[in-house]
Amino acid sequence: MLQLVTSRLLGTVSSNDLVARMSGDEFVVVQANVESPNDAEDLARKIIDSLSAPFLLEESEIRIGCTIGITLAPRDSQDAEKLLRCADLSMYRAKAEGRNTLRFYSPEMDSISWNNIGLETDLGKAIAQEQFELHYQPQIDLETGAVAGAEALLRWNRPEFGLTSPAAFIDIAEETGLINEIGAWVLKKACTQAAAWQSSPYRPLRISVNLSPVQFLRQDIVQLVEDTLKATGLNPEFLELELTEGSLLKDVERTKQILQGLKRLGVRVAIDDFGVGFSSLSYLKNFAVDTLKIDRSFISSLLAGSRDEAIVRAIISLSQSLELKVIAEGVETNAQLACLLSHACDEAQGYLFSRPIAADAFEALLKENPRYLLPKQGIPPKKVQSS
Ligand code: C2E
Ligand code: MG
Ligand code: MG
Repeated sequence: MLQLVTSRLLGTVSSNDLVARMSGDEFVVVQANVESPNDAEDLARKIIDSLSAPFLLEESEIRIGCTIGITLAPRDSQDAEKLLRCADLSMYRAKAEGRNTLRFYSPEMDSISWNNIGLETDLGKAIAQEQFELHYQPQIDLETGAVAGAEALLRWNRPEFGLTSPAAFIDIAEETGLINEIGAWVLKKACTQAAAWQSSPYRPLRISVNLSPVQFLRQDIVQLVEDTLKATGLNPEFLELELTEGSLLKDVERTKQILQGLKRLGVRVAIDDFGVGFSSLSYLKNFAVDTLKIDRSFISSLLAGSRDEAIVRAIISLSQSLELKVIAEGVETNAQLACLLSHACDEAQGYLFSRPIAADAFEALLKENPRYLLPKQGIPPKKVQSS
């Protein structure tokens, strides 16, 4: 696809112009001999036209769109670096207005947060430069106090910014489609890690992986999961995929099919952040899922006698009637834990037990094989060695 786009671009510019692919799906065109802004605008419109005709790729017809930011030298700057930034800024502005649009740079765009500019470019290079890592947060069985599973959480070791949480980049990754590549990497890494932990003497350990709606609704997510399980040798019953409302709301029929496909593979499916959003109960009617994860917002002010307690109790008993596993997210205090125990919640995860930690630290935790003592036994939870 990149090659096809490149040849269309080369066919549109004149021989003195320069076409370069900067990263991912970002190209730069340097136009020579610009006499007025109209010249630049004309070329930009020609490019939009040339890319709007369908592409033929392996016998499929594919349509794409593009957005163009334009900066003029010497008007905006004479510094190459600054010009690229200006072009980037105006492209972001164009993007916000929809596909097939163009925008000229203007100085008031400088007020846009610089943090986001360059994010897309950096994100495009992050996989190849091995800047991603997974951290693991234990999920505790509230009957035994043992580690029952681990949620894999993505971290980006972004140069100059340090370890960056997915909250800062998942949106951009979804918007640009990079999430597909990133998500496939996450799945592979998590399954490889989990397979290694299964064959170790510790215990069978469930691994949970978050799927983005963009990734989930892709045609071949079932195939991707199947291939990944095969390649990594992980037993499907130890993989749980976490979906949010965004995945489940869009297209009920497709979603049903995809979930059935995943069921056939034998993997588990959890609804993440359960309780926030719109029509949560209809998911339970329509879709075969295995686990509900109670959203952190209900846990954070969970006190005996509170409205949150009533909601949490209701979600737990709903799960029990439907024979689903129920996991409380974001458990930070003993009081919250005591409340969950009193309603027989299956599992909990949160800073009270452990923050998400790097793979080697998690492995050390597994080796230690802790049993978290739970308040119903009269002792505040702390890690103790089991025999
Ligand atoms: P999530 O799946 O609901 O993950 C739980 C988030 O809560 C994590 O944030 C975790 O670090 C945080 N957390 C856990 N325990 C506590 C606690 O006791 N207190 C508080 N305040 N927070 C706690 P994180 O790692 O920043 O991830 C944020 C979100 O980004 C995740 O929410 C998930 O939706 C998304 N995400 C993470 N990794 C991936 C990934 O590999 N792919 C996709 N598509 N999304 C991901
Ligand atoms: Mg999650
Ligand atoms: Mg969640």
